[in-house]
Amino acid sequence: MRRIAVLTSGGDAPGMNAAIRAVTRTALAKGWEVYGVRQGYAGLMAGNFVPLGARDVSSIMQHGGTILGTARSSEFKTEAGRCKALHALGSFGIDGLVVIGGNGSQTGAYHLSQMGFPVVGVASTIDNDLYGSDITIGVDTALNIALESIDRLKVTATSLERAFLVEVMGRDCGYLALMVGIAGGAEAIVIPEVETNPDEVVRLLSEAYRRGKSHAIVVVAEGAKYNAEALAAHFREHQGEIGFELRVTILGHVQRGGNPGAFDRLLATWLGAEAVEALARGEHGVLVGQIKGEVRTTPLAEVVANRKPLDLSLLRLNDVLAR
Ligand code: ATP
Repeated sequence: MRRIAVLTSGGDAPGMNAAIRAVTRTALAKGWEVYGVRQGYAGLMAGNFVPLGARDVSSIMQHGGTILGTARSSEFKTEAGRCKALHALGSFGIDGLVVIGGNGSQTGAYHLSQMGFPVVGVASTIDNDLYGSDITIGVDTALNIALESIDRLKVTATSLERAFLVEVMGRDCGYLALMVGIAGGAEAIVIPEVETNPDEVVRLLSEAYRRGKSHAIVVVAEGAKYNAEALAAHFREHQGEIGFELRVTILGHVQRGGNPGAFDRLLATWLGAEAVEALARGEHGVLVGQIKGEVRTTPLAEVVANRKPLDLSLLRLNDVLAR
């Protein structure tokens, strides 16, 4: 009989609970025992483990966040920290670990697997910056939350002839901003991957005003050199040229807190179940993700060595469509 553990790490993402449920019940169906690790790698080092039965994961799938809690731990980045984790895993007799999380979490999973422990990652982050999965758990829900906010801002912007600078999450990746900007009909999109001249954004806004638009939306990624605050400071000096009255909205953590939609629940279910199947066939040191519509595994060594590219041609498409 096997005994595995599952943890969530880094930023929480809607759908993590569905992944915990899928891991737990797939493993239980094989006759294995499952332990949940509280508070990510911090809990792993501290041996903060709780047994998970089928009923412990009842009715969690529809909720955002993670029932196990998550954390960021700098100690786990050290070999001494990871040795503590190996010791805790050994003392509970655990022989396989599933790590549900994003880039940093999978880097941690890679280093742990390099120390000889069987680890399988599940691709989960709202940032969608993880190589080895075209789309990660939480992205779709976060996109829809940001989009709903933009739709609402447009209503008030139109009434008052305003331009809104809307800052969305994504750390140093512009995926969320780019997709939400296109789907929300933004006049301009500012992302970290492309050097943006703030005067160019001023020009886009003033042209939109002169073309008779009743509102304008600029979607800005939090990791861009000119984030919403920096752009707003620049725009204040050019208020006369812009025409629109300016307002800034930073969406921040509201993007994380929503209940996962059908897409994220299903993705989390497929990936969580496959993580257990991978362990069952002796495959580890891999990330489970979705590639070209299929559930696939990619070696963690490849995941940490590569950066997922962003299709920048979509920025040009948006310039055309924003007319
Ligand atoms: P998100 O981007 O959605 O917030 P993430 O998994 O990228 O998720 P991070 O805060 O980057 O979140 O990483 C989570 C944890 O993973 C860190 O707090 C740390 O414990 C561990 N980690 C990150 N980088 C490394 C590393 N180089 N070596 C070992 N562990 C790491």
